[in-house]
Amino acid sequence: MWIRKTEFELIESRNKKEKNSRKMGLMGFIFVLTFFILIDKYYGEAKGRFVPHGAPLTWTDIYYKLPYYIALSLIIGILLYLSLRKIKKTTLICPNCGRKKNFDNIFECSCGGTYKNIEEMKWVDK
Ligand SMILES: [Zn+2]
Repeated sequence: MWIRKTEFELIESRNKKEKNSRKMGLMGFIFVLTFFILIDKYYGEAKGRFVPHGAPLTWTDIYYKLPYYIALSLIIGILLYLSLRKIKKTTLICPNCGRKKNFDNIFECSCGGTYKNIEEMKWVDK
């Protein structure tokens, strides 16, 4: 049956979500950083609308552009982290009958139970 998580478990799942968001943000940072460096190194820097790509950069050029890459990747990493942190599951579940539905602001179930957010609930064997 479905029961509400204890306060401790709620905190634990919040921490887990926080940790995962941080991990994904960090991975996003590393990915974007690598991506932009490799693009510049092997494809060339964007040079405006009419010459979209110039000559590939040397490692020295890339070294001097490093603060730019880091700033850009940091912004993307942080945005990714913040948005992942904010995402909440929109599935509701009725602990009485186990019916699930998407969030729609109607919390009464036809069985007489009350729908709860699935993130606050857990399944236990009777
Ligand atoms: Zn129900």
